[in-house]
Amino acid sequence: MKIAFIGLGNMGGGMAANLVKAGHEVHAFDLAAEALDKAKGSGCQTYGTVREAVQGVDAVVSMLPNGAIVKSVYTADVIGQAPAGALFLDCSTIDVGTAREMSEAAAQAGYEMVDAPVSGGIAAANAGTLTFMVGGSESAFKRAEAVLQPMAKAVIHAGEAGSGQVAKMCNNMLLAIHMIGTCEALALAEKAGLSMQKFYEISSKSTGYNWSLNDYTPAPGVGAASPADNGYQGGFASALMLKDLRLAMDAAGASGAKVPLGKHATEIYEAFNEAGGGGKDFGAIFTTL
Ligand code: NAD
Repeated sequence: MKIAFIGLGNMGGGMAANLVKAGHEVHAFDLAAEALDKAKGSGCQTYGTVREAVQGVDAVVSMLPNGAIVKSVYTADVIGQAPAGALFLDCSTIDVGTAREMSEAAAQAGYEMVDAPVSGGIAAANAGTLTFMVGGSESAFKRAEAVLQPMAKAVIHAGEAGSGQVAKMCNNMLLAIHMIGTCEALALAEKAGLSMQKFYEISSKSTGYNWSLNDYTPAPGVGAASPADNGYQGGFASALMLKDLRLAMDAAGASGAKVPLGKHATEIYEAFNEAGGGGKDFGAIFTTL
């Protein structure tokens, strides 16, 4: 298959490389020359514009920073430029409204489009073990599955257009909440006289079990390996977590959902970002306690 890939950053670079490994012809574009060079090194064909990259392709995959960029790329250079019948897959994490708007605009021009945000960070993008949560029609999902498989551990149909983004923001709001709770419990255990390692051993096999504690322990040298063991470098940046929490808060405001803990988690990550922690892994909230 010929696949255009737009946005070859931390995530997109590894994802595009896995499409090449699966035997696809990947037409790559990114605004950053360094990202394009890297894509070339992994076997992609590189192009100077989005419009050139989407010529003659069967599918367009995008992995871009935010909804405004996704909208400008699809509106200006993908819809009406890619061949009739090409499938569009936006894997970026963006707001539900823009995802639905782009799907509608694509449909009006005769294209099928899915929102297909991912769970799993840079390591999973490189290893081809991302979980994709896909919003779109049944037929678009079937076509999308074939494109996403080489990059995936799991490809799940969430529902109609926008549903993938709903799943993503709810998942990450929950992740932020249990990460903060895990940090608080570890710090309290230590201060109250129980070593964090002993608390980990007990709670990871008790009802406090959760991914942040069991698989990504946010205290250095305790429990499972995580960016905490490396000064909170790498991993999932607090700035990206804040971005996802803000998407969730916007959706909560628009839908009238009550999310008191989500709101508090947003405030905590806002304060951490303002204090300069945005580049650190999201488990670094532990250092503020
Ligand atoms: P990144 O900033 O590393 O990569 C984004 C790339 O898009 C950059 O290379 C940038 O040059 C390029 N770009 C920006 N505007 C462009 C345009 N108009 N045309 C072409 N290219 C353009 O970001 P990332 O970490 O790869 O994240 C990408 C998306 O994946 C985001 O929506 C993010 O929320 C989501 N995500 C990231 C992670 C993670 O751990 N990093 C995990 C899950 C989801």
